[in-house]
Amino acid sequence: MAKKWRKTKWVLLLFALFTALGLCSGAAGLKAQLNNMPVLVQDEAIAVEAYNINDYNYFKLRDIAEALKSTSKSFEIQYNNTTNAIYISTGQAYTSLGTELSPPQGTNTIKQAVNSRAALYIDGVGVELSAYNIDDYTYYKLQDLGQALDFRVEYDNDNRRVLIESTPLDTDQPEQPTTPEQPEEPEEPEEPEEPKEPGDLVIMVDPGHGGTDTGTINEEQGLTESLVNYDVAMQLGDMLEQAGYTVIYTREGRDETISLTDRMNLIRQVRPDLVISVHHNATTNHNASGAEVLAQVADKEGGPSTELAELINAEYEKIGQKVRPIVYRLNSSQTADYYGLLRAAAGVDVTAVISEFAFLDNPEDWVKIDSPEDLQAEAEALFRAVDTFLRNTYSIA
Ligand SMILES: [Zn+2]
Repeated sequence: MAKKWRKTKWVLLLFALFTALGLCSGAAGLKAQLNNMPVLVQDEAIAVEAYNINDYNYFKLRDIAEALKSTSKSFEIQYNNTTNAIYISTGQAYTSLGTELSPPQGTNTIKQAVNSRAALYIDGVGVELSAYNIDDYTYYKLQDLGQALDFRVEYDNDNRRVLIESTPLDTDQPEQPTTPEQPEEPEEPEEPEEPKEPGDLVIMVDPGHGGTDTGTINEEQGLTESLVNYDVAMQLGDMLEQAGYTVIYTREGRDETISLTDRMNLIRQVRPDLVISVHHNATTNHNASGAEVLAQVADKEGGPSTELAELINAEYEKIGQKVRPIVYRLNSSQTADYYGLLRAAAGVDVTAVISEFAFLDNPEDWVKIDSPEDLQAEAEALFRAVDTFLRNTYSIA
């Protein structure tokens, strides 16, 4: 157990280090060179204040908010002076200060940039982006903002200009008629272009429940779902690490309590390449048996989470477990996944499935999870399915 702790801590430490390095380099103040590259929003030129810092272009957050104000990508900014926190609310109209879109005149304006220590929240979720303060305003990388706030950024290198939510550069593609009033189609999942190394892929392994949240319990058989989940998930994580993948766990301790909200936020912050959640099932009548995999509703007619669910089912059948139909469940407003983990992952374009290998309240099933060998077989089956899925999806040799 200690080894796993260290491994995961190391990954978290690396994240912290990258953030800290950013802080150190900016602490003394960096040279920020005003960038005069023209910027177009929906094909119209705007006058933004942007600076080149360490070879990256940083844009004034309030300029971008003002520029997108009348588009479907508008967002509101609120700043809390006391906590030094910036709150962005997407889909809301921006309240202008009147200071936006008025860059300083001149050709050689150099300013001092100081690393921003302001916390950033987008729709209530903490987000860590590289940021600098120049003259009391906060500046972010345009690409980072585009990704976090879902607007399109392109660098037109031939004509030395930046395009935001403008006509796509690629003229080989048939042009879509631009209808800015309508919400955009969800982006296509990225096509794998080059073969990847397993280490490039971050797999989030979620041992369901934990601590005070035990999940379902079969007292007679001495089975507690949160513990069974943990034991399978940790073995799965070990196997993935041995195969070279980068693994992050949502829960570290066998008895640790982690809320669903925290797990969902972790997915949104880390944006792993895959989320695999390990659960075990039960029903009120104790009469159901068989493996059940829950996939994302957007993939109901086919898609990555369905592909993975099918691979998992095939592996479960190979080790002698019968499988039930893949479950897709919509939330009450019929707009998104019912299950929080699947919904959070879908919200950031991450593939996720929940595996329920067996019903621990049914005699036909509990015999398949009541020994260490059983749990190892389950973890191995999951590993084979996940590994095959990743190799297919990311063209890993
Ligand atoms: Zn569960």
